[in-house]
Amino acid sequence: MDKNTYKLLTPGPLTTTATVKEAMQIDRCTWDEDYKSMTQGIRSGLLKLAHADNGAYTTVLMQGSGTFGVESVLSSVISSTDKVLVLQNGAYSKRMVEMCDYHGIKYVVYEEDYAHIPDPMIVEDVLKSDGNITHIAMVHSETTSGLLNDIASIGALAQKYNKKFIVDAMSSFGGVDINVPQLGITYLVSSANKCIQGVPGFSFIIANVEDLKKTKGIARSLSLDLYAQWETMENDGGKWRFTSPTHVVAAFAQAMQELEAEGGVTARNARYAATNRALRKGMEELGFKAYIDEAHQGPIITTFFYPADCTFTFAEMYAYLKEHGYVIYPGKLTDAETFRLGNIGEIYMDDVEKILAIFKEFAGLKK
Ligand SMILES: *Cc1c(COP(=O)(O)O)cnc(C)c1O
Repeated sequence: MDKNTYKLLTPGPLTTTATVKEAMQIDRCTWDEDYKSMTQGIRSGLLKLAHADNGAYTTVLMQGSGTFGVESVLSSVISSTDKVLVLQNGAYSKRMVEMCDYHGIKYVVYEEDYAHIPDPMIVEDVLKSDGNITHIAMVHSETTSGLLNDIASIGALAQKYNKKFIVDAMSSFGGVDINVPQLGITYLVSSANKCIQGVPGFSFIIANVEDLKKTKGIARSLSLDLYAQWETMENDGGKWRFTSPTHVVAAFAQAMQELEAEGGVTARNARYAATNRALRKGMEELGFKAYIDEAHQGPIITTFFYPADCTFTFAEMYAYLKEHGYVIYPGKLTDAETFRLGNIGEIYMDDVEKILAIFKEFAGLKK
């Protein structure tokens, strides 16, 4: 086996199908009508996945990885007189705070431990005590830990107190059902290489049209200007403002068809949840305890502690798994030694069985 042929247990980039990769074999023209209609198909297809009405909501595609999408939203929709409440309980929400610092955006942070979800009662108290807050920003699936935040209770507060609601649903959209209008989400951000199972190269923003229209001129960056990107896409029938990642877009269009063929978000969520549960259960039987308790564990990725009597390093474990066809992820916690196993992408129950057998074999060798 080629030493570069392995399945990814990393949550994006992830293992894609052969047909998604094949869609990249054609070099496409960016102003060609067929290519532009591919972009338009993706935009309306994403709205459908979000249960959002074409007209009340719109999709903006943005070049770059997921972070570019989050930065585009934060730097384009929060004006100099606005203030955002950031709910922080992981590395990705912490990154949002960093972005606010870079752009001089006014913010307040409500910080929770990485293993806990933000308490809606505390969020409500903050909203009541600080009338200057105009936006709430949070992460749905915290890929840092594997925790799934409760966007429904925060969305209800956003609606009750009339705040704009920004959700980083990077590693959940397409793998967890999200009803954008019902949850009161104003801007949802995700990217090509997560649960839709495309390849990396662009992010997308599902936005409330009425709110987006009010943001003209706020952007602090030319290339990340969300309004300008939307305006060009909208007025020019699917034309991107600057060179678009044509191969990635074609792969994504194919990935969206394959999501539908699998049975949509419901079926994909069932697969992810089943493989995640089986991995978590099997690993715990081998002595690897999960960091997040079962009630808040999301279906995408799991953080594991090393066994109590651990006799090996991450590097040894990584090398052994890679040799046997799987690549794993280091931990991202600041206060504990952990590693992570993602289960999105082309990962099925027979992979889970193989992965558990490899871990068992490895642990046996290290006894
Ligand atoms: C993947 C991810 C991002 C974006 O990371 P990039 O490396 O820029 O793609 C942002 N937030 C979350 C929760 C993610 O999982």
